[in-house]
Amino acid sequence: MNWFTKAAMGINRFMYGRYGGDMLSFAIIILYCVLVFIANIAKLPVLSLLALALLIWGIYRVFSKNILRRTRENDWFLRHWNRISSWFRRIAHKFSSLQKQKTLAAKDKAIYKYYKCPKCRNRLRVPRGKGRISIKCPVCGTEFIKKT
Ligand SMILES: [Zn+2]
Repeated sequence: MNWFTKAAMGINRFMYGRYGGDMLSFAIIILYCVLVFIANIAKLPVLSLLALALLIWGIYRVFSKNILRRTRENDWFLRHWNRISSWFRRIAHKFSSLQKQKTLAAKDKAIYKYYKCPKCRNRLRVPRGKGRISIKCPVCGTEFIKKT
């Protein structure tokens, strides 16, 4: 018997009567990683503490001997998984459309310059890099000169 088989047998003996991994534990670990990532970026120590609590819960579930209860938790999780995943998808979608809006706004700013009409305060968009031009407000007809 080599050391690997011995170690595997030892783990087997230790895990005997214990619950082991399931989808909920897997999800907890993923959520832990996401929270740690966010906590590091946003510099939120409270969030990393919450992540640690999640990790401990996940590990506790794997080694728990209350198999019935753990199975029920996992069943509950699987029943609600669709709703949970669509919630995550919605957030991801919101985030990506926000990023798109930001890049569009940046592009717009690179191409156009915005001025307010001195008379009626109407917002006017003019192309950049045209030098000094006369701008005519389409609302009130006021003309004014600006550098673009
Ligand atoms: Zn005007």
